[in-house]
Amino acid sequence: MAICTVCGAWLEPSALDFSSNPNAIVCPNCGHRERLIRHPLWFIAGSSGSGKSTLMPYLRRALPECVVFEGEAIDFWRYGDSPTGYAALHNQWLKVAHQIALGERPVVFVAIAYPQQLAACPFHHYFSPLHFLGLTCSEQAQRERLLARPAWRNAGSPEFIAQSYGFTRGLEALARAGNTGIALHDTTALTPADSATAIAGWVRQTLSPNVTLHYARIVGLDLAEAHATADPARSLKTRG
Ligand SMILES: [Zn+2]
Repeated sequence: MAICTVCGAWLEPSALDFSSNPNAIVCPNCGHRERLIRHPLWFIAGSSGSGKSTLMPYLRRALPECVVFEGEAIDFWRYGDSPTGYAALHNQWLKVAHQIALGERPVVFVAIAYPQQLAACPFHHYFSPLHFLGLTCSEQAQRERLLARPAWRNAGSPEFIAQSYGFTRGLEALARAGNTGIALHDTTALTPADSATAIAGWVRQTLSPNVTLHYARIVGLDLAEAHATADPARSLKTRG
């Protein structure tokens, strides 16, 4: 919800007071109150060379009941120079995830961010629980993957490699710190298909089986039925 249904004020979450109203969206203009509906989110974080992009098609196939969205689909280079830097990009990611979640589809979002960067986004209030998994790999594997990229991607410089591996080590440090609930998945020795199977298992640990069954039905018979009733040829025939 972005507009107050009573007074029409813009309800951007950055302007809302969640600290005194943790379970409600309260219009700052007229005080109108609506229940805050939070959606679960599965966020998979990995830096360049962690195996993220290679994984995507396999992960989509392994999780047909979810919308698997790669954050890099949103042009990150538009945000580096903005006043709030990449924090604005992280918030855009959560806005997109929220729009998908409003359609009651489980969202698996794959991008580069630490949990604390997501927690700093106004849109993080729309998600709970936020399940976080870090993609890791050995330093050697990450370096080799980055050096194997075509030159136009500028991924082979020592600085870029160090930055990418620095993120991976940061994920490992966070997970080691304990009590963060952060899961790690090491892609070093696995095929993308095997990684996707393992990660789909991690998602389904916290995804209700009813959701999986529901979307299995939709993808099967129920969706076919919906298509049949929406077929224009059929509706014309009925009218004729
Ligand atoms: Zn209002």
